[in-house]
Amino acid sequence: MSARILDGEAFAARIHGETSARVARCQQRGVTPGLVFIRVGEDPASRAYVSRKEKRAQEVGIASRTLVLPESTPLNTLLKEIDALNADPKVHGILIQSPLPTTLPNDVVYARVSPAKDVDGFHPVNFGKLLLGDPSGFLPCTPAGILEILRLGEIPTAGKHAVVVGRGQIVGRPLALLLARKAPGTDCTVTLAHSRTTNLAALTRQADILVGALGRPHFLKPEHVKPGATVVDVGVNRVNDPANPRGYRLVGDVDFDSVKTVAGAITPNPGGVGPMTIALLLSNTVRAAEDLSR
Ligand code: NAP
Repeated sequence: MSARILDGEAFAARIHGETSARVARCQQRGVTPGLVFIRVGEDPASRAYVSRKEKRAQEVGIASRTLVLPESTPLNTLLKEIDALNADPKVHGILIQSPLPTTLPNDVVYARVSPAKDVDGFHPVNFGKLLLGDPSGFLPCTPAGILEILRLGEIPTAGKHAVVVGRGQIVGRPLALLLARKAPGTDCTVTLAHSRTTNLAALTRQADILVGALGRPHFLKPEHVKPGATVVDVGVNRVNDPANPRGYRLVGDVDFDSVKTVAGAITPNPGGVGPMTIALLLSNTVRAAEDLSR
């Protein structure tokens, strides 16, 4: 038996279609949603991520551009750039691409973005709203994209046991909170596992929905998976591959080929969570434009 594939590219295309239609409605009111990416330094992976997101944004009609700053940018200069974008009425969303150079404190930088333009959902105000269940905040894009995968993939969630492996700030922790919400499409009983969890496989084998968000290549194997479970692979891990022109390839946290023979449904990687993260980012940007131009 082979698991049903939860095709993130196809789901993302549906969301992009809705986003394009919303952009067109904004434009009828004289507003073009605007998104600015800030990239500090020349990390090759960050360059690739930002250019992919910028291209997608343009495809749905969002005016997007990237502000590139040198690796040596002082904190004050970066904060001034963020202040200018916060004040610019043509800019509705601001995304600061991680990782930032180690000289720049993440918490100070992310907290400087106006919560109304924080389409990544990383600002403490938006994180607090997530915790309170206040829908006026922006949800972080990867966890929100995973909820959409479950919804569009018609995976039942209410009363189901979700095990999230990884308690990172941008995926595992917010996702666990969202899955436990008292709301349609969630209502799970949630276990949040991490590197200090004991007997991990015994826990993950109880999961109806198993999410790998730990950043360890091909870590989750068939022995971690209950037959018929839904498996979501968030990880993006670089592994050496001399046969690849880049010298490496990207793999997920789930050993897809073996796990798909046990799972009931599974996200491919690439082609699962990644495209949905971008789809939710663009959808958040249009919502910011709708809210700010009301
Ligand atoms: P992170 O902040 O480094 O968190 C990793 C988490 O995994 C930590 O909670 C860590 O536990 C846990 N962990 C590490 N090794 C473990 C093990 N052997 N057993 C159980 N738990 C373990 O990482 P992140 O930012 O959340 O990202 C996680 C992965 O998702 C990365 O591969 C990242 O590239 C990927 N990602 C993908 C997308 C996308 O759009 N597809 C978006 C964001 C991130 P401790 O807390 O105990 O250290």
